[in-house]
Order: sequence, then C-alpha cells, then structure tokens
Amino acid sequence: MYGGSGNSNQPIIVLKEGTERSKDKEAQFNNISAAKAVADSVRSTLGPKGMDKMLVDSIGDVTVTNDGVTILKEIDVQHPAAKMVVEVAKTQDSECGDGTTTAVVLAGELLKQSETLIDSNVHPTVITNGFKLAATKAVEVLNNISVDSNSDEILKKVAATAMTGKSVSGEEEYLSDLIVKVARLVEDDGKVDMSNIKIEKKAGGVTKDTYMVEGIVLDKQRVHPRMPKIVKDAKIALFTTQMENKKPEVDAQISITDPESMQAFLSQEEGTLKAMVDKVKSVGANVVFCQKGVDDLVQHYMAKAGIYCCRRLKQSDMEAVAKATGASLVGEITEIQASDLGTAEIVEEREVGTESMTFITGCKNPKAISVVIRGGTDHIMDEVERAMTDAIRVVGVAIEDGKVVAGAGAPEIEVGLRLSQYASSVGGREQLAIDAFAKAMEIIPWTIAENAGIDSIDAVIKLKSAHQKGEKGAYFGLDLETGEAVDMIQKNVVEPLRVKIQAVNSAAEVANMILRVDDVIASRRAPPMNPSADPSLGGPGMSGVGGMM
Ligand code: ADP
Ligand code: MG
Repeated sequence: MYGGSGNSNQPIIVLKEGTERSKDKEAQFNNISAAKAVADSVRSTLGPKGMDKMLVDSIGDVTVTNDGVTILKEIDVQHPAAKMVVEVAKTQDSECGDGTTTAVVLAGELLKQSETLIDSNVHPTVITNGFKLAATKAVEVLNNISVDSNSDEILKKVAATAMTGKSVSGEEEYLSDLIVKVARLVEDDGKVDMSNIKIEKKAGGVTKDTYMVEGIVLDKQRVHPRMPKIVKDAKIALFTTQMENKKPEVDAQISITDPESMQAFLSQEEGTLKAMVDKVKSVGANVVFCQKGVDDLVQHYMAKAGIYCCRRLKQSDMEAVAKATGASLVGEITEIQASDLGTAEIVEEREVGTESMTFITGCKNPKAISVVIRGGTDHIMDEVERAMTDAIRVVGVAIEDGKVVAGAGAPEIEVGLRLSQYASSVGGREQLAIDAFAKAMEIIPWTIAENAGIDSIDAVIKLKSAHQKGEKGAYFGLDLETGEAVDMIQKNVVEPLRVKIQAVNSAAEVANMILRVDDVIASRRAPPMNPSADPSLGGPGMSGVGGMM
C-alpha cells in the first residue's frame, strides 16, 4: 500500500503490505451500501402487517420472529459500517424496548438520501451539519405533538400497539389489560423496574388463562406430601447449600467391622441432619427454600415440624424470593439467624393445570409481581412471553415519561412536513440536507403501507394532505384496513414519545458517523491455516475495499 506521494514522484510506503484501504467517495459509498443492506434486511418486517423472518443458526435451531433487534442480533454481520447500524438497534432496544426496526430503516434511508447529495458534490460535513439541525428540530416537533399518557386507557393502547404484529392476535385486549395492571403495581415513584416482575410458564390451557399474582410464583412443589400445603404468616429461610450430609469428594471406603460402630456411624449422620432441622426450627422458620438437594431424613423431620420446603431452586428464583420477602441467602445452615428470615402472609401450593406450583403472596415488598403464562405449546408461551415483556417495558416507558405520540406513520409525516418548512428558513447548503432528512422520514409510513399491500405513493399523499389540514392533523396515521388517513389516537395506535425520539436521534447519529468516514483502513487477517477457508470471511462490502486509489 502506498501513502500520499507529495511532491516527489517516489511513492512513500506508510502502511504494512497487505493492508486493505478505500478512500473518499469509494469508502463512503461502500459504507453506505453496507448500512443500507442491513436496513433492507429488516424492512419487510416493519409494521403490524410485516412479514416474519426464519432464522436458522449454525446448529440448526430455528427462530421465527419479526422483531428487528432479534433478527439483527442473530445474523452475523461482518462489515464495520453494517455493525454500526446493528448497534443502533441494540441501543434502541435497551432504551425503549421497541422501535428497533424503525430506527434501522430510518438510518438506511438517511444514508440513501445522502448518497444523492454526495453524488451532486455536497460535502459530507455539510450533510452531517444539516442532519444534526434536522434531528434537533425533529425532537422539538415530536415533543410538540405528544399527548399525556397518565390514564390507564392510553396505556392499554400503548400495550396493544407494542404487541401488534407479534403472534398474540386475538388476545391483545385481554393481555393489554393485564400488562397495564402489572406495570401499575410495579410502578414505584414513576419508575417501572422490570426486575420486580417474574414470569413463569406452565403448558396447558389457552393464552387467555394467563394471569397475574401479587407475589412470587415458583415452579416447585413441596418436597414431602406430609408437609403443610399452606403456611400462613410465613417466615422464610433461604439456603444456598444442600441439606444433606456432605458426600466425600473422592470414592472413599469406610470399613466398619462391628455392628456397634455401624450404629454409631449412622446415628452420627442422622444427628447432623437432625441438627439442621433443629436449627431451622429454633430461629422460627416455617418455610425453607433450598437451592440444592434435601435429604429424605431432613424432609421427614421438617414435615414433622410443619415446615414447608422446596428444593433445587434456580439462582434467579432464590434472588427473587430474597428481594420480595426480605430474606437473606444463607450459605451455612447452622449459621442462620432469625434476622435472615423473610416474611410473607401466605406460602401455598396451588394447582396450575395438572401440576402444582408454589405461591408466595402478601410479600414484604409489595412490588413483587409474577405472571403465570399459559398456552398450548412451549412455542406459543415463548411468543406470549416475548410480547408481554416487551409490552410491559414499553408501557413502563410511557409511565415514566408521561408522554405518547400517535403511531402508524403519523409522527414521521408530521416531522417531515415541519422539517421541510424549517429547511427553507435555514437556507444555504444545509437546507439540502434538512430536506433530505424530511424526505427520509416518509420511509416509515411508506414501508408500513408497502408491507400491508397498500399503494405507498397514495398513502403518503393522503397522510400529508391530512396533516396539512386541521388541528388534529398531527395524529393522522395510516389505517391499514382502508388505506385512509385516520386519527390514530382514536384508532388506538399510540407509542411512547421516547421510542420515536430515540429512533430519530440514533438514526441521525449513525448516519453522521458513517458519513464522516472517508478512509477505511483494514489490516489483513492472519492468513487462515487452511488456504481454502471460507472466502466470505471478509464480508460483503469489504471485498470492494481492495480497489486502491
Ligand atoms: P419496530 O421494531 O420499529 O417497533 P414494528 O414492526 O413493531 O417495528 O412496527 C412499528 C410501526 O408500526 C410503528 O410505526 C407503529 O406506529 C406501526 N403500527 C403499529 N400498530 C399499527 C396499526 N394497527 N396500524 C398501523 N400502524 C401500526
Ligand atoms: Mg414494535
């Protein structure tokens, strides 16, 4: 590779041999195409009528989903610019729990629009400046068209909108009700902490049999049938070690020669086990949850003492019970103290379908909520779980921020129109970039229409004209049944303001980051051991990088 040659005709070598490099427009166009390719890969999933993707991993496991971030996490993206776009989806997901496809599609469209500008020799710096101004203005417009979301009625719409397109159709209303109830119960000082929500799945019944419990539900039965089925005024001990005699690490043989020492050995073993139960009784515990195994004899003694016990709890369950009841995790049974115990009004074994589970209700921490998901198959329950957890987060965001906007393309059209007006007030070359940003916003309603089999041109024209008329214009989105522009607050399609703001901001940010790059220098990978190894390793875009200046 050769560096700039300056005045001398002799090229100066600055980079190691074998380094791949692309510069200027070539680098920009390479990066832009890679980013657009990522956006194109999820475009067809956008909106309630979006299609699903079937993802097959290297061991043949199949996931069917239309969730943007799930798709992008699974596909193995190699190009550096493409990776940056995937990051946008991840950020969007962690900040809002929704809007990942929107953010990525928007980023792709911003870059597509800039391509035309670069072609007509607008400098990337001018474009990035324009995009920055446009994003700031867009956020202002979004704030202006947002509405209050303090009522449960609006929150239910938010939940239903977040679930559209996921395979829970038919049950949106029931689930939205449940989701808002859960979010409200968990809400603390305007914050919805997802870690207070525990989800259990039990096959059987239908989706509508899914219900919520104020407290903790464990997929565990009591270990001994003679233990009480219900314990009131529960004092709960949590043990992270086994309630058994320790087995020798290696195969040891103990040789006992006479019956007396045999008896002595056995009673000593029994003694330690009984001492465990005595200790538990002495601190006043009447419920024991053990993360490991519980010896038969210990079970027997505890049953006699009226203690309720479950064994082999998951680490996450132990932590959930600790948080909900105020119990401490104890590693040494003989060291437990009364102050380590947690409290709950009732610990009880209840039937769920044909099986039993343990319910801990009236917990010390009233914010602990569990959801028991029911459904015909594991696959259905997984879908419901994904849809519900996302929707609870989205409702949480709406509760935290207190602001929502209409959906179905309404905010994007409004922002587009306002940006066009704003562009002319800015003037100069930046105006071109702001106009391009305005145009890019239309990709959202355009794509939602396209995916629903509605003529995109007509749809965007109808939306624009609805927005230019009347005061409520800003709420008009695309009705996918009729193809008409309709007030989406009335039509129950609403999304948290944060979802839209984050999507616009991160799309603009990644577009700018990609546009500012005018030189891609890649050190060549270490030569593969097997020279015929996968030639695609370089990734789709990088193969073009080889063409030098
Ligand atoms: P994302 O990953 O961006 O959330 P989705 O596939 O969930 O992608 O689609 C979200 C888009 O679909 C949003 O613009 C939202 O307003 C729109 N949308 C949701 N429900 C409806 C509906 N019933 N009619 C029209 N558009 C809808
Ligand atoms: Mg969504």
